[in-house]
Amino acid sequence: MARYTGPACRLCRREGTKLFLKGDRCLSDKCSLARRATVPGPHAANQKKLKEYGMQLREKQKAKRYYGVLENQFHTYFEKANKQSGVTGANLLSLLERRLDNVVYRMGLGESRRESRQFVVHGHFEVNGKKVDIPSYIVRPGDVIVLRDRARKSEKFKAMIETLDTKVMPKWLELDANAVSAKVVAIPQRDDIDFPFEEQLIVELYSK
Ligand code: SF4
Repeated sequence: MARYTGPACRLCRREGTKLFLKGDRCLSDKCSLARRATVPGPHAANQKKLKEYGMQLREKQKAKRYYGVLENQFHTYFEKANKQSGVTGANLLSLLERRLDNVVYRMGLGESRRESRQFVVHGHFEVNGKKVDIPSYIVRPGDVIVLRDRARKSEKFKAMIETLDTKVMPKWLELDANAVSAKVVAIPQRDDIDFPFEEQLIVELYSK
């Protein structure tokens, strides 16, 4: 599956908001957006105020970039969300939140979703006792996600595991720091997602 490999900070500058794509750096004064809050490119100074379509488009791009998903896959999530009962925008965010790479990130294993995704691709995780190396795998209530034994011995993971006790988890995930595992105890709801998406704009965009 193709993915964006360009500079992460450029995406935040394009969206005009912190998307937290680079771990600790995002919280420091080295954050590129904090230092230079302009749209990238030569026409930054000529940016016009966004009209309705522009706002809808930007909100979709923001969500795609926040979760590290490309256009086709994002559209597939929207179609799935649209078929589910309930509010489509909230369903969409809930699906994105249940991606395995996002769960690993929420567990505190990865400085960014991009890094967590790499960990999944490298086969460091099991779901319900079976290795899963697909970042887009959608977890369900009852699933248990575990860091595999071999990975636990690496220095990289050891340092992250030491900080798990301090991790604040969303209420739909139950972390067992000793077992380096998390159990999905519920479907994530809209208020479990703290990023201020205006998901209704995305729904309007795709409903045109
Ligand atoms: Fe975005 Fe983080 Fe880069 Fe800041 S440091 S611009 S929040 S990716």
